[in-house]
Amino acid sequence: PDFNALGLSEPIRRAITDAGYTTPTPIQLKAIPLVLSGGDLLAGAQTGTGKTAGFTLPILQLLSQKKTAGPAKSCPRCLILTPTRELAAQVEESVKVYGKYLSLTSAVIFGGVNINPQITRLRKPLDILVATPGRLLDHVNQKTLDLTAIEILVLDEADRMLDMGFIHDIKKILALLPKQRQNLLFSATFSDEIKALADKLLRNPGFVEV
Ligand code: AMP
Repeated sequence: PDFNALGLSEPIRRAITDAGYTTPTPIQLKAIPLVLSGGDLLAGAQTGTGKTAGFTLPILQLLSQKKTAGPAKSCPRCLILTPTRELAAQVEESVKVYGKYLSLTSAVIFGGVNINPQITRLRKPLDILVATPGRLLDHVNQKTLDLTAIEILVLDEADRMLDMGFIHDIKKILALLPKQRQNLLFSATFSDEIKALADKLLRNPGFVEV
């Protein structure tokens, strides 16, 4: 199987070729068609499996397919939550690499650094926001971020987010999002707490495990 069979558009396939990928990984083979179909997804995958491309590639395609016309707004359409700033930065870098032939915009925000450059960035056009939960809520509280246009939510490494005590922040964030949206949950492990979160978050999810 190769990337041509997965239903990804030409600009995305060109970026994949530039990255040197020839064969989709197992998680990509299963997750990409599911995400493209618009459904929710529960995925069991560790780091190193290619999970990041597994969700960023189809998300880029979905957002570019129904790119909204009109004045550029700084309300993100996709929110990707990660446990750490390092992972947030990596995921946003992947979004930029795989989306280099598309006109979508992205940004990353995380704690432990000055908030002001982030506030400046959030005033400009923004399709995909990658964030850690605490700093995301700081922005919401300061009214420098509007989450009411989110169409797709990703919880990446959800088990680590729970281990780090982010469940309350995640619940607060979920309450701010439009009810009608696509949800993807990635986790390396499935504790009862993760299962409860998945039950609350996901509607008829496809399930993939590698
Ligand atoms: P991840 O599990 O998302 O952290 O990805 C692990 C590494 O695999 C990253 O360095 C990716 O650039 C790389 N990678 C992802 N998908 C593929 C692929 N289909 N072929 C080769 N390398 C890949």
